[in-house]
Amino acid sequence: MTSIASNLQAVRGRIADAARACGRNPDDISLLAVSKTWPAACVAEAAAAGQRAFGENYAQEGADKVAALAGRDLEWHFIGPLQSNKTRLVANAFDWVHSVDRLKIAERLSAQRDEHRPALKVCLQVNVSGEASKSGVAPSALAALAGAVRTLPRLDLCGLMCIPEPSDDAAVLRARFARLRTLAAGLNADGFAIATLSMGMSHDLEVAIAEGATLVRVGTAIFGARAPR
Ligand SMILES: *Cc1c(COP(=O)(O)O)cnc(C)c1O
Repeated sequence: MTSIASNLQAVRGRIADAARACGRNPDDISLLAVSKTWPAACVAEAAAAGQRAFGENYAQEGADKVAALAGRDLEWHFIGPLQSNKTRLVANAFDWVHSVDRLKIAERLSAQRDEHRPALKVCLQVNVSGEASKSGVAPSALAALAGAVRTLPRLDLCGLMCIPEPSDDAAVLRARFARLRTLAAGLNADGFAIATLSMGMSHDLEVAIAEGATLVRVGTAIFGARAPR
């Protein structure tokens, strides 16, 4: 029998094994439980099993869950594509946004973030897959975007995020994740403080951890297969 609690334990075990296999400390890798499409009751079940950080892809669905579970001391991460007309909702319901890839979106998030709350933590989503992917800032435009985002008062630029194109080839995935790590190192050499590498999902978290992931985003392996949307 599987349950959210036992799945979480298994995923934490995978993270620990992957970290040890490459000489990293498992405590340096945090687990984001991606609860998109699953009801608040499933999030509550994961929270009861000790999980604190949750990821959502759809603004309204995510904001509704944040409201339903208010007061439980959870941390909410928005990880989906973000349209201009949803920035106000996202800026105020969430603690983190991983999918910032345009200055216009960043400016709106900063302007709309509640002044009584801490700055919104953001990751810049980078297109590490070239032609094979449309979302994310191009690596060649990353430094300019990071420089502009850094000046926005209500955002805290914490990390980079990527979603490589689907591939069964571990070498391809590895190269994509390595690219994100190298880009972060380049920014940090220029005075940025990029500490979060948001990369790796249910099927490839081991590869991502081997390439330096500090946060893995895991849905299916915790909650089960999602119904097609
Ligand atoms: C859905 C999703 C995940 C989780 O994917 P799984 O394969 O279910 O682990 C991670 N990151 C993003 C951006 C997602 O949209």
